[in-house]
Amino acid sequence: MAEFSIIDTYFNRKNQHSVDLGVGDDSALLTPPPQQQLVICADTSVAGRHFPLDTPPHAIGWKTVAVNLSDIAAMGAKPHSILLALSLDQIDHDWLKAFSQGLYDCCDQFGVSLIGGDTTQSPHLTITVTALGWIETGLAVTRSGAQIDDLICVSGTIGDAAFALQHLGHPLQQRLDYPTPRCALGAQLKGLASSMIDVSDGLAQDLGHILNASGKGAVLHVDALPLSPALQKLSDQEKYQYALAGGDDYELCFTISQQHYEQLLQQKTDTNFTIIGKITQNLGLTFLKNGVDYSVQFHGYQHFA
Ligand code: ADP
Ligand code: MG
Repeated sequence: MAEFSIIDTYFNRKNQHSVDLGVGDDSALLTPPPQQQLVICADTSVAGRHFPLDTPPHAIGWKTVAVNLSDIAAMGAKPHSILLALSLDQIDHDWLKAFSQGLYDCCDQFGVSLIGGDTTQSPHLTITVTALGWIETGLAVTRSGAQIDDLICVSGTIGDAAFALQHLGHPLQQRLDYPTPRCALGAQLKGLASSMIDVSDGLAQDLGHILNASGKGAVLHVDALPLSPALQKLSDQEKYQYALAGGDDYELCFTISQQHYEQLLQQKTDTNFTIIGKITQNLGLTFLKNGVDYSVQFHGYQHFA
């Protein structure tokens, strides 16, 4: 089966909305909404490295889209469309059918269209999704805006995906295989959060990026970390390892002034969020437990370690 037939069979569904030209020509065409900036990001998944080789293809399709929508959400932007660059090690129709279904399920849930891509053969199954979104000019929430005394918040629960990776078959595996990009919360935080990042490499490391970019430090209350019941039962060492150093959660970590936090509380949100610390002038990340200094030992996830 030729490349074009794969594209037509699996990746050429009708678009959601506002796409001038989608799959089928040399490039796609979009009309930018007035007064908005294009927000764009890409993320690559390699089989055996970013997901276990036996991950169900439907979950792979979902997750490759979800992790990109999470990056768009972390800017406070609204996702619009994706491009898919797919390098297949073989042509397996059952796999392609389930993969494309998972991909479109995630697209449909968040109102996103697949507008183009590339299909090739290579020895390793590799999937790159590029996501595009829009945001009102000047309103993107970057990593560099944290201010002294801002509250540090995180959405949902953290550490679930890392826990699931060590306990395959546990109900929390859903959190590993089908992460939920926090698109609605991210967009709501536009104009309210002073900085934001999505938690993909572990909370400590990702919060560290905010601190570095903002030139600030933080205190973090480990006893305030929002944990699922399965993690609450673990020893401190284990639960903080998962929560602070575990990757793949795709929750939003943001900083916000007290005043904006109170405004946020007045609004309805579809996702819970928890205050876990405060931005400080002193650089570095200090951990507290029950208000006293607490030393945690953990390793962050490093791609090239
Ligand atoms: P070209 O050779 O001009 O780069 P291709 O033959 O690679 O074009 O692709 C033909 C059309 O199919 C283009 O519109 C491209 O964006 C789209 N396309 C190719 N692969 C995919 C894919 N995996 N998913 C979605 N669209 C794709
Ligand atoms: Mg061409």
